Amino acid sequence: MPLRSDWSDSQCPLARGLEVLGDPWSLLVLREVFFGKARFEDIKASTGIADSVLSKRLSALTAHDLLARRPYDDESGRTRHEYVLTPKGEGTLPVLNAMIHFAEQHLGAPSESAHMQIIHSSCGRRTTSADRCDACHEELTADTTTWVSFARAEGPVQLAGSQ
Ligand SMILES: [Zn+2]
Repeated sequence: MPLRSDWSDSQCPLARGLEVLGDPWSLLVLREVFFGKARFEDIKASTGIADSVLSKRLSALTAHDLLARRPYDDESGRTRHEYVLTPKGEGTLPVLNAMIHFAEQHLGAPSESAHMQIIHSSCGRRTTSADRCDACHEELTADTTTWVSFARAEGPVQLAGSQ
């Protein structure tokens, strides 16, 4: 018996959105791709996700046209695939930003380094809004947004956008 019913035809857009984005691992995979991780091994290393689960999530995200597969040759000349955001996938940025803001505002952090900030790189100001910069009101896109995750890096990380 499935865990729940299929919501892809639901009358509610939130339920339809959850059909695609409601899985925690899928959002964490998207986080990694925004952070510039494109390859299976890199995503696996920074999430700790099991191979089989990661394979399934990458397939689902690709099937939903949030990620695209792009071939590259590894050191041995073997052709492998990496994953890049599609424009639709980049459209999830405000969802992830909103989740980060919600956690920062309402959920505790286990340590001082477990915080994140979202910076609009065009104006250099921190924003606490998910889709537009608080300071200059420009739309936040991957190209103009950096995430500062103190647990990952000292400074801001420029996000990878759709390619
Ligand atoms: Zn701004």
